[in-house]
Amino acid sequence: MTTVNYNLCECTEAEYDRVKRPLWTKLAYNSRRLYRCSNCSALLLVQPDDIEDALQRQRASRSFPIPRGGHGAEAQTA
Ligand SMILES: [Zn+2]
Repeated sequence: MTTVNYNLCECTEAEYDRVKRPLWTKLAYNSRRLYRCSNCSALLLVQPDDIEDALQRQRASRSFPIPRGGHGAEAQTA
């Protein structure tokens, strides 16, 4: 049986393809749509708004790279 996630995965470089919904998802979650993450292949049963938000976050983080890395101390001037 396929595992379906009810929250977005945390991929930062992903696309989400619409997947044809099984009937039960229409009955149980009428406002959600089924997507597949192109990066981790997770099936995501989420609101379309959530997908839009995720894509916007991805675009934003590409435009304004968020420095990542665990060495927080380097940037601090005590
Ligand atoms: Zn993913």
